[in-house]
Amino acid sequence: MSQYYPRQKELNEVRGHFKPRGPKSKKIEQEYGPGKADVLVCKTCKAFYWYKSWHHNLADYPELNQKKRIKFTVCPACQMIKSNKYEGEIRIYKAPSGIKKGIKDLIRNYGKRAFKDDPMDRVISVEDVTLRGQGKFMRIRTTENQLAKRLAKKISEVYRGKFELSISHSKKEDTARATLTFKEK
Ligand SMILES: [Zn+2]
Repeated sequence: MSQYYPRQKELNEVRGHFKPRGPKSKKIEQEYGPGKADVLVCKTCKAFYWYKSWHHNLADYPELNQKKRIKFTVCPACQMIKSNKYEGEIRIYKAPSGIKKGIKDLIRNYGKRAFKDDPMDRVISVEDVTLRGQGKFMRIRTTENQLAKRLAKKISEVYRGKFELSISHSKKEDTARATLTFKEK
């Protein structure tokens, strides 16, 4: 049997923009499916996996009764947070202290809404950091690369014309980084 080598285009589709949402870890795929657990419940955040996606509140789905085989696990988002990983990062440079609080509130609210819509979409952290060679900036990390992109665009929209926005996507690592730099007059 000859070995199958996926073409670059296929790899990009898997890793990039068209990546299907759902279970990301091998572990989830191994635990769920015919002959295995019907429902996976995250022991950290209580999100549950059923029918190819993660949902909030098992109690809202009375059809998933005791007869189902429920297995406790750790969802990909909690796993990512636990192992200090992320898929999206936003860096905000030179934000004046007067608008920093507003930006942080915006991020918090946006993160809450994203999480409500999809339990795998989370803002992991918001912090002011200083890195050698990279200067001072506000760093926001998210579990999903698309979430970081959307949030960066939102900040840029809300503070219209005040930031220079650039977005880059590493196909290799499947991470997105957005940079917002405050325009100094
Ligand atoms: Zn979880």
